[in-house]
Amino acid sequence: MTTTVTAPAHDTAPAQDTEGIEDAGHVDVLIVGAGVSGIGAAHHLREKFPDRTFVILDAQDNRGGTWWTHRYPGVRSDSDLFTYGYRFKPWRGPSIAAGEEILAYLDEVIDEDGLGRHIRYRHRVTSASWSTTDRRWTVEVTRDDTRQRLRFTAGFLLMCPGYYNHAKPYRPRWEGMDDFQGAIVHPQQWPENLDLAGKRVVVIGSGATAATLIPAISGTAEHVTMLQRSPTYYFARPVTDELAVTLRALDIPEEWTHEILRRQYTQQVQLLARMSHDAPGELHTFLIESMRPMLPEGIDVEKHFTPRYRPWQQRIAIVPDGDLFAALREGKASIVTDTIETFTARGIKVSSGEEIPADIVVSATGFNLSVLGDVAFSVDGAPVDFTERVTWRGIMISGVPNMAYIFGYFRHSWTLRVDLVSDLVGRLLATMRDKGATMVVPALRPQDKDMRLRPWCDPGDFNPGYVMRSQHILYKQGDREPWTHLLEHDEEQEILPMADLDDGTLVYR
Ligand SMILES: Cc1cc2nc3c(=O)[nH]c(=O)nc-3n(C[C@H](O)[C@H](O)[C@H](O)COP(=O)(O)OP(=O)(O)OC[C@H]3O[C@@H](n4cnc5c(N)ncnc54)[C@H](O)[C@@H]3O)c2cc1C
Repeated sequence: MTTTVTAPAHDTAPAQDTEGIEDAGHVDVLIVGAGVSGIGAAHHLREKFPDRTFVILDAQDNRGGTWWTHRYPGVRSDSDLFTYGYRFKPWRGPSIAAGEEILAYLDEVIDEDGLGRHIRYRHRVTSASWSTTDRRWTVEVTRDDTRQRLRFTAGFLLMCPGYYNHAKPYRPRWEGMDDFQGAIVHPQQWPENLDLAGKRVVVIGSGATAATLIPAISGTAEHVTMLQRSPTYYFARPVTDELAVTLRALDIPEEWTHEILRRQYTQQVQLLARMSHDAPGELHTFLIESMRPMLPEGIDVEKHFTPRYRPWQQRIAIVPDGDLFAALREGKASIVTDTIETFTARGIKVSSGEEIPADIVVSATGFNLSVLGDVAFSVDGAPVDFTERVTWRGIMISGVPNMAYIFGYFRHSWTLRVDLVSDLVGRLLATMRDKGATMVVPALRPQDKDMRLRPWCDPGDFNPGYVMRSQHILYKQGDREPWTHLLEHDEEQEILPMADLDDGTLVYR
């Protein structure tokens, strides 16, 4: 029998309807996703509303989302963990952390908050239907292991499914792939026992994943070639932060160290983000020149390390302690900047005519973006077409009642926004309670009706492949508050805590 622990218990066997869907009970809040967003959201919900019932559903068989999906060698954060860690739980480790360390941190949160009994793994949410009459969501779930179908009902839906499809990575097709005699792997589905010893590995791509993977495997593989179509911005940072070491030696409370380091990193990243808008040329020069002394002598910096876009139009990849550059200097790794013409039986032929020999090709080619967990939404029987909807502060969607979603930052630590959005959702639930409302829905005011709609993401501002490939399936932004999203953290940390929840854009009933 599957019931939510927090839901009213079934006295008898759970009801099954004619479609073979089992009734799984009712909760006040249903959270989709047990990654850093879902776990953070659950912490805040428990803290602010200890009496509310809730359940967390995740399609995977374990917690962690991104950090559970990605288990390739060397997987680690790009962000510092003082800002990637939650506001409420000090990070005690090095500034840049391995995936396993992040999972261990999340395990501590789950333990400390008693969240384990609220999480249901292998529960893939397939649809969510809102009924205004019943003032509730009906959420259908398929268990990936048993194929069993379940139906939950919930008063409020908190969507924390991340931004990409965890089950289906982006795998571009190239000519000749079927002729290739070696193995082709994707970092999102890294084979557990892949033996790289003595192998020639080609990594396609040069973003954060390639920059992480290459130094991690270059000691084992015979040689690693990074094959990029165009260069990425890199920034070397120490794994261990000296200020953290100094503060910890003073034996002050970890909460203080966490807060001081958070402020330091927040300020640094804000400065870089602002520079990317206001002085992109200066930031470009700063990034290239700080990398130059760490590169192999004589390497063509213009060709291999000078991106064609403005800094931070795509994520800047972090190189902890310059490890990628060391692998290049030591000759364990090399770099080819060219386009793939065809795979051959023994490697990859690029446009210059060169054939790069390979036993294993790693396709570090990114994600398939997914909109709100690919859940089919409907409101009062009408399917929701997100392309016709507008985001309310990147937290709710016009015309979709009692649903908030958590989407973090691209340039800053994702988690900074998890705390900020959770605070706002807490205020929203409290406002509903105070008004005696059972429903809240974002709606365009008369003065917003003719508002100019913009794509969700402005390509001039941020344009990585996975976002650009999927703009056509995404909701829109307006040209004014609160119909905007993707602001910088320094703006939002002022705006969100003060946001007026009674400005007429939210309708309470
Ligand atoms: C390798 C890698 C490194 C990264 N490093 C950083 C970094 O250093 N700093 C940073 O800020 N960001 C980083 N990111 C971005 C990262 O995705 C976010 O930081 C963050 O982990 C997102 O957390 P989340 O909980 O919102 O989503 P996710 O981690 O994507 O987790 C979402 C969960 O929801 C589940 N889910 C989705 N749809 C459904 C459904 N329909 N039904 C049930 N369950 C569902 C998924 O199974 C998944 O477990 C990195 C991303 C990758 C891939």
